[in-house]
Amino acid sequence: MSLTHDAAVSPSAGRRFRAYTTKHLDELTVRAGLGAEERLAVRAVANVLPFRVNSYVVDELIDWDAAPDDPIYRLVFPQADMLPPEDVGRIADLLRTDAPRSELNRAANEIRARLNPHPAGQMELNVPKADNDEPVQGVQHKYAETVLFFPKQGQTCHAYCTYCFRWAQFVGEPDLKFASSEIDQLVAYLRQHPEVTSVLLTGGDPMIMGEGVISRYIEPLLQVETLESIRIGTKALAYWPQRFVTDPDADETLRLFEKVTAAGKNLAFMAHFSHPNEMAPDLVHEAMRRIRGTGAVVRTQAPLIRTINDDAATWERMWRDQVRMGMVPYYMFVERDTGPKDYFAVSLARAYGIFRDAYKNVSGLARTVRGPSMSATPGKVCVDGVTEIYGEKVFSLHFIQARDPELVGVPFFARYDENATWLFELEPALGATRFPYEVPSPADTSALADPARA
Ligand SMILES: *Cc1c(COP(=O)(O)O)cnc(C)c1O
Repeated sequence: MSLTHDAAVSPSAGRRFRAYTTKHLDELTVRAGLGAEERLAVRAVANVLPFRVNSYVVDELIDWDAAPDDPIYRLVFPQADMLPPEDVGRIADLLRTDAPRSELNRAANEIRARLNPHPAGQMELNVPKADNDEPVQGVQHKYAETVLFFPKQGQTCHAYCTYCFRWAQFVGEPDLKFASSEIDQLVAYLRQHPEVTSVLLTGGDPMIMGEGVISRYIEPLLQVETLESIRIGTKALAYWPQRFVTDPDADETLRLFEKVTAAGKNLAFMAHFSHPNEMAPDLVHEAMRRIRGTGAVVRTQAPLIRTINDDAATWERMWRDQVRMGMVPYYMFVERDTGPKDYFAVSLARAYGIFRDAYKNVSGLARTVRGPSMSATPGKVCVDGVTEIYGEKVFSLHFIQARDPELVGVPFFARYDENATWLFELEPALGATRFPYEVPSPADTSALADPARA
């Protein structure tokens, strides 16, 4: 492909990256038109949950006339009511009285600990062992064919999403972090585990790394014959498309992508888009053209988030625009059970309705998308529908992905619950006493119907 710059990008495209953090929050919330009390409450939330935005998101993506209701504003700015009022009040009082940093941190840590910082056992489960029985740092191996790798220098993002399920990694608590700078350990592990065909670089956002750093992770992987694909989970196309067009290492980055495809592996660029407005700027189209030109395949995924993208028209537009731009819709996720989950949660019943209402209107090219999908401890569970079987209203579900591969693709049922927002709130249906992924209790070895439940 040609790596010369195209001119069809906005004048701000070449501007240097500038991050805004909690220090700058007050001037930005003034711009959004918030009053003093609310601004203090927003600052209080930003002392518990991570906040970071950048000049591109502020200048090009947010519609300030529509703030604070603008979906992109809501995507990156903390909301005063994202946390319980007593927690917000406690931090706000400390801020108001200029309490010492140590006191503020102590209060913030107490609140964080109550927000299920590590959903689905991320820190303890699925960490593989090397030959010498030492854990392979920064690696998560939950599903046989795919390994997640968290490069140490990739543990931040160009901006933070308010709903991020990895929020705990961004709040400066060393024991909440999970990362590695050791690519050699991963390569050794892959050589011992030829069943692993896909490595997913994640974070944070691996595209926060410059080409000189990310290439040191990717190039060794090209030598692993059994590896079929390298995935990069990233929101850079939405939050900093300059990374692929005008940044000093943009061209080198595209050459790195070309090396992956030339090595006979799929470079799967897993783009996180939460809202169609993120795909509107010319710069994103230009970045997308350049990435496609390397032979990489761009697939898209995002969670369904209340107040940001919880309507079918938004998803329909997003999937249609993605197909137009050459992207492949991949997953619609259910918001995970962590952080300000209660604030952003959409019930499974509503999530299914939104998915279906969008899905039924798009061409088969966009129906590569799967969801709504819950990434839970036993695996990724898809809500296929709501139906009635012998008079009982049920959710029909299946595992898209499972720790136990035998469960993949097998339908199972849960009692319909209008308010349930996550797998563990569901109960087995149709007389079953447990879900297929649950170990039978000693008293239930036959897994026969339990009359007490019927
Ligand atoms: C989603 C996920 C993967 C990848 O699963 P695919 O269905 O292949 O996209 C791998 N590991 C973990 C822990 C995941 O959550």
